[in-house]
Amino acid sequence: MKYALVTGGSRGIGRAICVALAQSGYPVLINYKGNAAAAAETADLVRAEGQTAELLPFDVAKKEEVQAALQAWMENNKGATIEVLVNNAGIRNDVLMTFMEDEQWRSVVDTNLEGMYNVTRTIMQPLLMNRYGRIINIVSLSGLKGMPGQVNYSAAKAGVIGATKALAQEIAKRNITVNAIAPGFIASDMTQDLDQKELSAMIPMNRFGKPEEVAALVKFLASKDAGYITGQVISINGGLYT
Ligand code: NAP
Repeated sequence: MKYALVTGGSRGIGRAICVALAQSGYPVLINYKGNAAAAAETADLVRAEGQTAELLPFDVAKKEEVQAALQAWMENNKGATIEVLVNNAGIRNDVLMTFMEDEQWRSVVDTNLEGMYNVTRTIMQPLLMNRYGRIINIVSLSGLKGMPGQVNYSAAKAGVIGATKALAQEIAKRNITVNAIAPGFIASDMTQDLDQKELSAMIPMNRFGKPEEVAALVKFLASKDAGYITGQVISINGGLYT
């Protein structure tokens, strides 16, 4: 069995990605941190697409937790491979640098950047042995252009972009592509505190994006058709970034 693992699959963009990968024929491992009810809803949506769904709760920021959960899964599923990994779990905690608490820096970097390392590193060996795979990292416009009030988040996402480009070169020979997707403003719990009407005026498309629009790009990058695309950062932002 070839599986897709989506971190932060319980809500928002991650949930839409789980559904899209199920439509592509992948059984889906749905990671989340604490929202079991939302994760169960995602699992129902995956099953509605005719695929199996398995919940895999762990905090991506905690290496021991990540390793324990994934190694136990691999032990219980001998012969199965995680062929598609979507590092989507992320948080923001916006504050100007002058007022930033260490904890605000740490938690955002640990979740967005260390989280990608912790999960990817843990499944690296079996993925290399599979000699085929897709790693898709969800980054952000903030990681490309830097956003005031988001020094922590911009640094973490820029870090993931660098890692994406380096890892892509390391493992291309194994037929494994590594790409990043940089969304602009997407309607989800993460952006519900923002003034959508005011911000939409700055976006050429005049609206926030939908999680399903990001998921459609993930679906393509995860497909065999995208086999010659690697080390790229693809923006999806309604024309906001030039
Ligand atoms: P969201 O609605 O807030 O959902 C966040 C997801 O990440 C939830 O499933 C959450 O799990 C999970 N998560 C958070 N911390 C975690 C941890 N430590 N370990 C495991 N899972 C964790 O966010 P979203 O808008 O869908 O964002 C998804 C990704 O897109 C993030 O990487 C975000 O930075 C990026 N992004 C979003 C936007 C946007 O406008 N929305 C723009 C650019 C980039 P629980 O449900 O258990 O809490």
